[in-house]
Amino acid sequence: MITGKTEDFDLSGRVALITGGSKGIGRAISIALAEKGADVIINYSTDDSAAKDVVSEINSLNRSGQVVTAIKADVSNSAEVEEMFGQIKKGPGRLDILVNNAGIIRDKLLMFMTEDDWDRVIDINLKGVYNCCKTAIRLMIGEKYGKIVNMASPSAILGRPGQTNYASSKGGVISFTRSLAREIARFNICVNAVSPGLIETEMMDELNDDVIKELLSAVPIGRLGTPVEVTGAVLFLASEKSNYITGQVLSVDGGLT
Ligand code: NAP
Repeated sequence: MITGKTEDFDLSGRVALITGGSKGIGRAISIALAEKGADVIINYSTDDSAAKDVVSEINSLNRSGQVVTAIKADVSNSAEVEEMFGQIKKGPGRLDILVNNAGIIRDKLLMFMTEDDWDRVIDINLKGVYNCCKTAIRLMIGEKYGKIVNMASPSAILGRPGQTNYASSKGGVISFTRSLAREIARFNICVNAVSPGLIETEMMDELNDDVIKELLSAVPIGRLGTPVEVTGAVLFLASEKSNYITGQVLSVDGGLT
């Protein structure tokens, strides 16, 4: 029987930053990490009310002493990321868990893809991971502890028409994950990726029904996943249960890849 129980992933006393933590998969991850006791910092870039919403939802869990904050910053902008980490240094003063989840799609056949479509997707999905990891590891190395989880995608491995920008960004995320894992393992910092398949979020609203139908035909489990179904993999990789795992990509895709 599937119970969804994950009691073992105790994160009390840990400080976690979730980029793009206000919606979709990031929102579910923020709530799941908070439920396991972590102090959570929710990053987002435009929608203040969605961020406020998730903060109040977590506060309604009624855990005494747990800190929940939202910080607005565009992860593709290094100055804004520095400023966000400045606030983290002044506040909790350390970071144990970084989930690089912020991401966008701007699907177009290459023939019609503008330079801006290319740059925005690469800047947010890949450079954003570089910006956040580079700043976060300064804090983590000092503590000799850290868990970094980057959000990849099956597009990185399978490719998809209309996603040369997105697939390249996520392929970059996987290569980045493997390289950084080797670089900082000696500081007891694990760097892994989670690769969600077709998950029901606002991002999927940008795909039309025919595309979703066609994509679903390749999913052995035969349905879309939910944001909550991605959280188990992230909790595992963010917890001490995965202390000897680094440089890996864990697929949560209903068998797609
Ligand atoms: P989503 O529902 O569209 O939510 C995206 C989140 O990222 C929002 O909180 C958004 O906040 C934030 N964001 C966007 N641009 C940002 C920026 N420049 N700086 C900081 N935050 C930013 O997306 P999702 O479907 O949950 O996807 C989350 C991650 O999973 C992405 O990396 C995506 O590529 C990956 N993924 C998703 C699927 C899927 O099927 N949904 C499949 C594979 C991989 P604002 O609205 O305030 O900007």
